[in-house]
Amino acid sequence: MPVTLYDTLSRSVQPLQPVDGTVLRFYCCGPTVYGPAHIGNFRTFLIQDTLRRVLELNGIFVKHVRNITDLDDKTIRLSEETGISLQEFTARWTDKFHADCAALNLLPPASEPSAIGHIPQQIALIEKLINKNHAYATEDGSVYFRVNSFEDYGRLSRLKDRELKSQNENSAGEVNDADEYDRESIRDFALWKSRKPEDGNNYWSSPWGDGRPGWHLECSAMVESAFGGETIDLHGGGIDLCFPHHENEIAQSECAHGKDFCRHWFHSAHLMVEGAKMSKSLGNLYTLDELHQKGFNSMAVRYTLISGSYRQQLNFTFDGLHAAQSALTRLERFAESLLIKINERPEAFNERYVRPDAPEDFGRFTKAWDALRNNLNTPASLGAIFGVIGSNPAASVDAEEAEYLLRAFGCLLYAFGLELFTAPKKLSQAPARIQALADARWEAKQAKDWGQADQLRDSLLAEGWIVKDSKDGYELEAAE
Ligand code: AMP
Ligand code: ZN
Repeated sequence: MPVTLYDTLSRSVQPLQPVDGTVLRFYCCGPTVYGPAHIGNFRTFLIQDTLRRVLELNGIFVKHVRNITDLDDKTIRLSEETGISLQEFTARWTDKFHADCAALNLLPPASEPSAIGHIPQQIALIEKLINKNHAYATEDGSVYFRVNSFEDYGRLSRLKDRELKSQNENSAGEVNDADEYDRESIRDFALWKSRKPEDGNNYWSSPWGDGRPGWHLECSAMVESAFGGETIDLHGGGIDLCFPHHENEIAQSECAHGKDFCRHWFHSAHLMVEGAKMSKSLGNLYTLDELHQKGFNSMAVRYTLISGSYRQQLNFTFDGLHAAQSALTRLERFAESLLIKINERPEAFNERYVRPDAPEDFGRFTKAWDALRNNLNTPASLGAIFGVIGSNPAASVDAEEAEYLLRAFGCLLYAFGLELFTAPKKLSQAPARIQALADARWEAKQAKDWGQADQLRDSLLAEGWIVKDSKDGYELEAAE
């Protein structure tokens, strides 16, 4: 059975197969690194990661590339405001992103190209587009893509069905902060932006003068460089990126290379807070650190963000996070009931059973596995898992059957990217607020975010608590 997925371009669920028969080329628009990613961003990255795991378990070799957007209006503005060089500023936030990814158990992509690392490739792409008459330079030294020159423009977002007035509103209905320049048509978008005083030292020389590439162009250039200009199989991003970002990527890449850019488009719906999209600009966001500090562990966050259908908006609530914690405890009790049958300790579970090798037959878990392969139906899969758990198979199986169930169950947990028994053991009776800080420090340590771990250790000390680590947990002692 192939893995199927909804494709925004054809508006239908389609099987996912690599076009070259060997490697599935999967590109995801990555984070803009000017602050910590919020859990809405992570919803999208976690959904992409879960799909990749399902594909790999189903025997498909995936080349997963996720870029780092380190060059745009926001990274430049904020690095200028903080007086740190753009490279140093974005490197700092890239490190933080990586630490959060590790805590959330995201698999590292095959490569993580950055926009700043691809300036010559972007200039070459613009030259190609100008030579083919798909782009033009303006008097101020900017370059625009000529939207009228690409007949297929709007196919992904079905723009021809409604009037395209400008580039300034995205597919989630939000206003973009697109710069106003001297364009031939309001539909045209910038490939190269001439240097402005507010750019500070962040400009590069080009045949059109000093400036910097436009955001949409960056992804086209990085896709070209990662996949050698070949058609890619799958492209992912949040639904807000469908228009204009992905529409513009298609236009640039297809006009430059004269072949299809991407076969299958994968858009995930937003994480919401009280009816509004979680976003930096609305200020209604939560970061992973904030949730750690409130005492939630990363696996509960991961569970919450991937348990709903990826095509439906998910409303973020603390009740949801508490429910995720209880669900994880139920999964742990189930694993324990089987581990007892084979005289194994819980600690061995992640290493021995949560592994990327699928059993030939998922047995009682077949429904759960099929649901994942069928358009990444995570809620149906979790429902099927809890159905099996509810039937209490541990009561009647022998050691061999217990081992088999553990293998299938562990493989499903691998697909979800969930590890059990990761919450630290609490060995002291400190107040809840202190305990939450210590849990957050433990999480940071697990994610090898040493800076954050040290900072939290200092905060605990300032509150009068000394934290002492042991192999699988920590102890809190009141300072003298
Ligand atoms: P950004 O860091 O803004 O470039 O966004 C990184 C990724 O997160 C993109 O794929 C966005 O579409 C996605 N994204 C942004 N906000 C949300 C949200 N509230 N829920 C889900 N995905 C989001
Ligand atoms: Zn992109």
